[in-house]
Amino acid sequence: MSDGKSVKPGIMFIAAHQDDAEGLAGGLLSKLSKRLNPRGVVACLTDGSVGHYRTEFLKDPKKLNQIRDEEAKNAALIYGFKYQRLVDNNGESFKDGRLEVNWKTRGAVWKAIRDFRPDLVITLPVNDYTDPYGMHNDHTNVGEIVKNTAYLIPAPLAFPEYMSENIDDKDEFEYIPPPIIVTVHDPYSGKIQPDIVVALTEEELDQKVKAWGAHLSQWKEWLPWVGRYDAPSDTESLKKSLIARSHRLAQSLPIKPKENEVYESFTITKWALRVPTLDEIKRYFPDDVLDYRFAEKKIKELL
Ligand SMILES: [Zn+2]
Repeated sequence: MSDGKSVKPGIMFIAAHQDDAEGLAGGLLSKLSKRLNPRGVVACLTDGSVGHYRTEFLKDPKKLNQIRDEEAKNAALIYGFKYQRLVDNNGESFKDGRLEVNWKTRGAVWKAIRDFRPDLVITLPVNDYTDPYGMHNDHTNVGEIVKNTAYLIPAPLAFPEYMSENIDDKDEFEYIPPPIIVTVHDPYSGKIQPDIVVALTEEELDQKVKAWGAHLSQWKEWLPWVGRYDAPSDTESLKKSLIARSHRLAQSLPIKPKENEVYESFTITKWALRVPTLDEIKRYFPDDVLDYRFAEKKIKELL
């Protein structure tokens, strides 16, 4: 929690899949880990059991799940973050490709946020109905799940099936304030209206490449296979492919991308009725190439 300067800020990324955090916000997580020394966690909603092409994973889906959880754990460690895979109130995984907005998934997110008490949540955006390609439903559903749950974060009686607090010697629950929630610029989710565009330093880019590189089953195997392109052969070509991807996405941003610079962009929400201050945005999103002009405008609109 943010009350008291000695307390470390809590940063939580809520993902659909094991590699989402690195691809979409790995540079920001690196930035924050170095500047704020936060408590950090990457929370993932699905078991990642769709992201491969080998028949052995149909016979043994848990094997792919284990590989991907291990990759995500190693990636998160690079920023000093923990990795947590969310499960339902019976300990069951949510299957990749079938993520639904229902009380089970909402309860899992509610519990994760109440237990970890983040100051900032970074997650995927909600569906844009004008999106022409209709891509990954898990991604847009994560946005919907977080948005639909945000208002209930302080409400202790909302999901009793997920309650883990010991209430035996208490008359009332502790108030848990809702966090700031921002969404990433996700090419799977349609139109892009970012309020903040952070540029990565060379060091942050290297850390993002390293973290993304931990997801070997994805960048080296699954994504080239499904995208029908050649897999990067080493870290240097992986870095080049990340720069190229960032520049493609940057075409739709109000910036002139510099050669070899990588950008990540974010949209401020008012979910949970929590509007961040400009100082909070400056703290959590250093190096905004838009000079916080769009962020300031958005905050004014939301208040
Ligand atoms: Zn994903």
